[in-house]
Amino acid sequence: MAEEKVIDETIQGNSLTLKNKKDNTRKLYIESYGCAMNFSDSEIVASILSKEGFNTTKVLEDADLVLVNTCSIREKAELTIRKRLEKFNAVKRTRPHLKVGVLGCMAERLKSQFLEEEKIVDMVVGPDAYKDLPNLIKEVDEGRNAINVILSKEETYGDVAPVRLNTNGISAYVSITRGCDNMCTFCVVPFTRGRERSREPQSILEEVNDLWNRGYKEITLLGQNVDSYLWYGGGLKKDFNQATEMQKATAVNFASLLEMTAVAQPKMRIRFSTSNPQDLTLDVVKTMAKYNNICKHIHLPVQSGSDRILKAMNRLHTREEYFTLIDNIRQIIPDCAISQDMIAGFPTETEEDHKDTLSLLEYVKYDFGYMYSYSERPGTMAARKLEDDVPEADKKRRLAEIIALQRQHSGYRLQQRLGKIDEVLIEGESKRSTEHWMGRNSQNAVVVFPKEEGSQVGTFVNVKIEDCTTGTLLGSIVKN
Ligand code: SF4
Repeated sequence: MAEEKVIDETIQGNSLTLKNKKDNTRKLYIESYGCAMNFSDSEIVASILSKEGFNTTKVLEDADLVLVNTCSIREKAELTIRKRLEKFNAVKRTRPHLKVGVLGCMAERLKSQFLEEEKIVDMVVGPDAYKDLPNLIKEVDEGRNAINVILSKEETYGDVAPVRLNTNGISAYVSITRGCDNMCTFCVVPFTRGRERSREPQSILEEVNDLWNRGYKEITLLGQNVDSYLWYGGGLKKDFNQATEMQKATAVNFASLLEMTAVAQPKMRIRFSTSNPQDLTLDVVKTMAKYNNICKHIHLPVQSGSDRILKAMNRLHTREEYFTLIDNIRQIIPDCAISQDMIAGFPTETEEDHKDTLSLLEYVKYDFGYMYSYSERPGTMAARKLEDDVPEADKKRRLAEIIALQRQHSGYRLQQRLGKIDEVLIEGESKRSTEHWMGRNSQNAVVVFPKEEGSQVGTFVNVKIEDCTTGTLLGSIVKN
């Protein structure tokens, strides 16, 4: 699924800092944009470079190397990144030895333009070439522009333990798959992240165990399309049919991986993202139901409620099939939260199609969602084959209608929790008051409640839900 689309606006452009190593002499400034996957990648990159003599800094003017991890999903993000590159180049005038590199999706798409035509960067690294970074930096040190955008067929993060010292110390992301074979026509992922491949379960479990030992209480298994996870000894998902009988018989799918993770750390909360309707199996939903520590939330983007548009998007399911899936989820886990991604104004979308989207929203009543109006991404099938023909004003109005309806449904879902006692993992202080904690329940809703003696960040408490605002549940701790 388009993991890239789940974009947390509050952390865009944040720079990462890790614990300094005493012997490191050079300074890295690394800034990230886009989806959770990009932020997780920045940690991996910083971890690789820490072994190459770089400590992280938050002060741009102190840096010897500036990296910006980019996102190509939205035009606005690209503009922001271009502005940042101009700023980096201004700093370069006073620090001539400073090197600037671009990582991530935008790097892949604009590689030669950045290096050769505009000459605004020293280094371009696609999402699958991070292991090559030390070599690239050597080349750049020697005065060459470096480019590495090869879509590698092997794991890029195999033996690299991401360092996560800058996070809240409670929740962490664990990458389990890369790439996507689905070829949705609006999406750049298949081109920027390459063919789909899965990470070895043992290394995933080791990372999860290590995170638990370091005090983490919640992990999110992360991938563009997690339900498509399939480990059969390495190799691309598409080559599975050529695997040996033995490999096929011992293959690990996502339901098994989820179960292995839940069993390995029974006190740790397990989340996952993102799910694609055509790949989410009922086995996964049943595994969620079986283990208390697997959170009851599925991010299940649909993008449109119209069969005709779903087809044009090359989504390989119908509206009816999606409804059946939703019905099954609700039957197996009645209080499972479901969230969406939606695109308004995809090429050729009519008012009729838009109404289908509204009626789909009405049917599902999602807990929350990420909604966009269509903007063409260069390189995608839609950009090549379909004219972006829905007038901007129609796109805007349709998007506003979708958002308004989603707001109602989010409110409805929050209301449904009133009177319930929810287990909440405390993540920190409420933004509005130092007297209150904020955390999330299993359904991923934010819960705010007064601090009580003995409660602290990183602990689980039971909270009686007494009230809600438009986006937050309010309650108070109940003693067991
Ligand atoms: S191609 Fe489709 S399923 Fe794959 S990442 Fe993009 S939107 Fe998700």
